[in-house]
Amino acid sequence: MNLEEIDKSFVLNTYARNYVNFKYGRNATLFDENRENYIDFTSGIGVVSVGHGNEDLANAISDQIRNITHISNLYLIEPQALLAEKLSKFSGFDVATFFSNSGAEANEGAVKIARKYGEINFDSKKYKIITLEHSFHGRTITTVKATGQKSMHSPNFSPYPDGFDYAKNIDEVYSKIDDETVAVMLELVQGEGGVEPFEKPKVQELAKFLKERNILLIIDEVQTGIYRSGEFLATNLYEIKPDIITLAKGLGGGVPIGAIMTTLKDIFSAGDHGSTFGGNYLSTSASLKVLDILENLKDSGVLDKTIIHFEEKLKEIIKEFNNLFIDEVGLGLMRGLTAKSSEIQAEVINQAFKQRVLVLKSGKNRVRFLPPLTINKEEIDEGFKRLRDALLNIN
Ligand SMILES: *Cc1c(COP(=O)(O)O)cnc(C)c1O
Repeated sequence: MNLEEIDKSFVLNTYARNYVNFKYGRNATLFDENRENYIDFTSGIGVVSVGHGNEDLANAISDQIRNITHISNLYLIEPQALLAEKLSKFSGFDVATFFSNSGAEANEGAVKIARKYGEINFDSKKYKIITLEHSFHGRTITTVKATGQKSMHSPNFSPYPDGFDYAKNIDEVYSKIDDETVAVMLELVQGEGGVEPFEKPKVQELAKFLKERNILLIIDEVQTGIYRSGEFLATNLYEIKPDIITLAKGLGGGVPIGAIMTTLKDIFSAGDHGSTFGGNYLSTSASLKVLDILENLKDSGVLDKTIIHFEEKLKEIIKEFNNLFIDEVGLGLMRGLTAKSSEIQAEVINQAFKQRVLVLKSGKNRVRFLPPLTINKEEIDEGFKRLRDALLNIN
């Protein structure tokens, strides 16, 4: 059997895979088994924030695992404590953090925090959480239910937990709130739902409304967090103060880690929540290094320059290919091109792959760009040259 056959026979079928075999990567460039290079505008769906094959990250991980990889949360874990301190400092919020292994798990924990808050603080229990249509919060049974996409609530996996309701947009959240509502959970830019940022004044108004009523605001920054928006958190860009923020994707630079940051620092007692792997030496030491690298990238002005250059390139595409695209959306290094149809969206991704530039889909008709934050000018220019060649092959 060749590798593709082995994969198809032995890996449980859940992904529509491309059968390319990447062997190594350098920053935003990947090399396959035939040494063909690809420009990566996906960073493993917003994960490889510091690029592929990052030497500093590799050294930090290797130094750590030569000493201790894991010892369990029954003992102090130095890099975990230091990472939690750093997240509080970088975010500008006085928060305590719980570490998980993924975004879905972080959101599960956020739901638990909200439920406990709703149980202990009011005369009658509050437990309902309002989320937004077109959102994405994960693949566990609870986070699938929290996800505001009907197509994901398949009867195959029912019954789902109660307590979730969906608003079409920010305006509709208000009419969904009742006496049992404990929280509103949303992404500031819906990563899977079209890369369209919510309007800042609307989000700020909602945040204020919720605070006045002691309803929690949970911001899912699994995709937008860790400088993806250009700021440490999209929350910082929106100048709001949520009660709970969840993180994952870019936090570990490819090492699985999720986080729940909350201002409700005393919500849990020992035993209320936990994780075997969460926050171990491997993932938290990797994250500390990732934050180091990205802090430098931001403070040196390089990240802001990269964002401006990337945006210019997208604008050029819109201008030249107004037969295929309507406009450009998103912020930071989380961008989208609105294709005129879902057929065009699919064809763009397909043709781009043939020209060896990787892009993603989002929503019904958007082509999504999530390059490593460390992507350099040469890689951006080469990627857009290839994208242009791909687009010239369409229609
Ligand atoms: C990817 C994503 C998740 C799920 O994260 P996993 O690590 O795949 O569980 C949750 N919320 C948002 C906004 C995401 O982009």
